[in-house]
Amino acid sequence: MAQQETDRPAGGEFVVDTENCEERERAHRERGTVRPITVVGNPVLHRECRDVTEFDDKLAALIDDMFASQRAAEGVGLAANQIGVDLKVFVYDCMDDEGVRHVGVVCNPVLEELPAGRRVLDDNNEGCLSVPTAYAELARPDYAVVRGQDAEGKPIAVEGTGYFARCLQHETDHLYGYLYIDRLSKRERRRALRMMEEGTPRYETVPSD
Ligand SMILES: [Zn+2]
Repeated sequence: MAQQETDRPAGGEFVVDTENCEERERAHRERGTVRPITVVGNPVLHRECRDVTEFDDKLAALIDDMFASQRAAEGVGLAANQIGVDLKVFVYDCMDDEGVRHVGVVCNPVLEELPAGRRVLDDNNEGCLSVPTAYAELARPDYAVVRGQDAEGKPIAVEGTGYFARCLQHETDHLYGYLYIDRLSKRERRRALRMMEEGTPRYETVPSD
């Protein structure tokens, strides 16, 4: 795939996701219902989700449930298939490396290819609510732009640095059927799965079998 050399994403303005974070996040989760989290092995996590085509009340209710579930599980990002829903939507409540909080939702996300000069890898630890109690070091670009739509279907773009850039990439991966452990070496993947088997999640999960 060709790399895009422009700074501005095509087809969407950078969304402002740093204002009124506390109020917006609370309003969503107070309307929503906490749902159990799907874990590795559940088929809904391992295939591409369907595109969102209806930007209606049902979608709004799903987003509320996702914020409620994300908070209950103490996550910084959550994809719809992590509560068992086969739709391309993720929510986030995540700090960037400047300590700025970002709260938002993206439907039908597509990660932009970065110009070569912006590909600086950062190899921080990564974890996932769907691989409870495990974590591993994973190198990812420290800058990301995701294009998609908001809850009303309006085109948007979200820009992230540092840990928030990692979150945007991780959540987009989920909606295409990939977990972060799929990006690890076989040995590191086995290590992460072992950590999961040995640990006990602090939130409700969906039994996989
Ligand atoms: Zn995850």
